[in-house]
Amino acid sequence: MTSRSLLVVHQERCTGCRLCETVCALFHDGVVSPSLSRVSVIKDEIKGTDIPILCAHCDRPACREVCPSRAIRPTGAHGTGIIDPGRCIGCRLCVQACSFGGISLTPEGEPRKCDLCGGEPRCARYCPAGAIEYLPASRIGPRKRRLGAGRLVEFVAVAESKGV
Ligand code: SF4
Ligand code: SF4
Repeated sequence: MTSRSLLVVHQERCTGCRLCETVCALFHDGVVSPSLSRVSVIKDEIKGTDIPILCAHCDRPACREVCPSRAIRPTGAHGTGIIDPGRCIGCRLCVQACSFGGISLTPEGEPRKCDLCGGEPRCARYCPAGAIEYLPASRIGPRKRRLGAGRLVEFVAVAESKGV
């Protein structure tokens, strides 16, 4: 396996400003429209905390494996899968297959997935709180991995409570 960089979320630092959503849409679509963003910030109303949710760039992506039209191909930065809108048939099986909530839907129902902005993720670059970092995999230790697992558990609980 080759060494690569990964997006790391420090949920405890997130202030819920949603600038990450804005810069994502601005970079990819040229408009200030967070509904087009590939990163979603989910609010835990009970705890009053915010959870940035984005693609984990799996080595064996479930989204890619279930796609019947082979629309998700490892052609993005560092081999991460990106969705080819020309091949996507809109079945949204990828959304169901991803355990991380890594695929968002536009208001028109088009699936969107992080492509690392070609190697310089804008969410990490502009987050004023340092809640999203783009780090070499070698710098991500066991403690951070445990925190990441906790974030996933919390995301699932919040998503279920909202009926997502
Ligand atoms: S830009 Fe940073 S602080 Fe603001 S919502 Fe996104 S992750 Fe949270
Ligand atoms: S969208 Fe989900 S399944 Fe696909 S690579 Fe990202 S985290 Fe993995």
